[in-house]
Amino acid sequence: MEIIRNPHHMQQHAAGLKADGVAIGFAPTMGALHQGHLALLDMLKGKCDLRVMSIFVNPAQFGPQEDYDAYPRQFERDCGMAQAGGCDVLFAPDRESMYPRPFYTDVTVATITEGLCGAARPGHFAGVATVVAKLFNIVMPRVAVFGQKDAQQAIVIKRMVTDLHFPVTLLIAPIVREADGLAMSSRNAYLSDRERAEVALINQGLQRAATLFEHGERTARALISAMHEVYAGARIFTVEYSEIVDTIHVQPVDQLEGPALIAVACRTNETNTRLIDNCLIGGEI
Ligand code: AMP
Repeated sequence: MEIIRNPHHMQQHAAGLKADGVAIGFAPTMGALHQGHLALLDMLKGKCDLRVMSIFVNPAQFGPQEDYDAYPRQFERDCGMAQAGGCDVLFAPDRESMYPRPFYTDVTVATITEGLCGAARPGHFAGVATVVAKLFNIVMPRVAVFGQKDAQQAIVIKRMVTDLHFPVTLLIAPIVREADGLAMSSRNAYLSDRERAEVALINQGLQRAATLFEHGERTARALISAMHEVYAGARIFTVEYSEIVDTIHVQPVDQLEGPALIAVACRTNETNTRLIDNCLIGGEI
């Protein structure tokens, strides 16, 4: 596995590969790798000639009071995992090379970034869209993979790729979970033991709603209140939002007629950790 730190070197390397007809597959991450990240590499298998993973904790997508400084960074361990997971090139730039000063450009995706996580994290999705646009220009992938775990992010990137004609095909990887159903996340490392034991409820609430849907319930309000019956058992986390939205406009739906996303965000009380999870019903992103 080759490690490239400099965006210009990465871009030159990618341009050379592209000129030789090599199809690049790309999995962007913020590191602190887990099985959910490795599943992205797996998903690229057979869909490209060379797999590039990036590790970059993107300052632009963190709010001033958020966990940019505390975000887990474990580069040596990540290198071993990426290599074992089949990564050919690891692109790991530093903050200064990605955001040299001055820096005045933002990619803003409207409307679909206003609800869910966008409401609680102003500027977050502009930070995400901007860095992904930069990474696409640097890595020049023919195919890129994003996780359903961050469903709104996947929808936003999909919209950006379509609206701005990025020449890349997107794949969405299913959510990889721990044995008790907790969605894997680099932020799970923040959790106290008591929190870790309880946050399995997050997915249980989603599953309760999904089961009701399978039994024919189509009213969003009924599905959400079923989730809240499960979350009523929570002692050390609070629900920030729980909503059912369509997968194109990310707007709340009353009746589930087409593909819908049941999305939830929670915050734990002891370590103030924000966790998100979701369940797609009736379709895909
Ligand atoms: P992150 O490093 O958290 O920014 O995530 C990088 C990519 O991995 C994003 O596309 C995430 O959606 C995806 N990802 C993170 N956790 C999971 C998971 N548990 N299952 C599937 N994909 C994931």
